[in-house]
Amino acid sequence: MTTRYKTRAIVFRRENVNEADRNFSVFTDDFGQLDIFAKAIRKIVSKLRNGIDIFFLSEIEFIQGKSRKTLTDANTIKRFDNILSDPERFNIATDIGEVMGVFIKGQEQDQELFNLLEESFCKLDDNNLQNGKYFLVYYYFLWNIFSLLGYHSEVKNCASCHGNLIPSQVYFSGKDGGVICEDCFKKETDSSNYAQKINSDVVKILRIILSKDWQTLSKLKIEPLTKKLLLDVSQNAIRAFCPN
Ligand SMILES: [Zn+2]
Repeated sequence: MTTRYKTRAIVFRRENVNEADRNFSVFTDDFGQLDIFAKAIRKIVSKLRNGIDIFFLSEIEFIQGKSRKTLTDANTIKRFDNILSDPERFNIATDIGEVMGVFIKGQEQDQELFNLLEESFCKLDDNNLQNGKYFLVYYYFLWNIFSLLGYHSEVKNCASCHGNLIPSQVYFSGKDGGVICEDCFKKETDSSNYAQKINSDVVKILRIILSKDWQTLSKLKIEPLTKKLLLDVSQNAIRAFCPN
């Protein structure tokens, strides 16, 4: 007899294959990250098509075949309608999905990671979230998933010498794992380290994100320069932490 597995799944990537099939990359409650094959799901008569799609939280049932897992049933638990209907929110969710694809390949069961992903999609979907704040959800997700994966960034003291930080003289080094002081920056000899000057606003934002204080984060007014620096340090950290 074939065993059927049932679990809650958040879909973060969707790929059309063959004439009417799809592959979904999902993160599940019970099994962590899975790739699930959905046969003939793009056919109008498919009984699966209403139950699962990109950025859905669904209850899924699947069987384990020789080489792949095949979806046998799907029921929607939550559709993130604002994410699906608003291209800007959709793009942010897609970026989150890409981070998942890079960092959690084959990841095992992890309730905190499941919760973080669900929480991030809920925040991004929120009716009250202003248009200019969508990008904050991405950073909230990114820096907290780093933490969950063991790349906790030091943002309170210098990540290298552990000394106090002077607000006007702060740098970010992915290699050192966080914010570093000017002395340590000057000692950096490895030019491939990409340590970069940042400002105290970026440090403050990273502290708020890592303490998961969304209330404060969502009310911050962020200057264009700080937004640019935040993007730079995030890319710096992705390069430093990327498993490949
Ligand atoms: Zn230092």
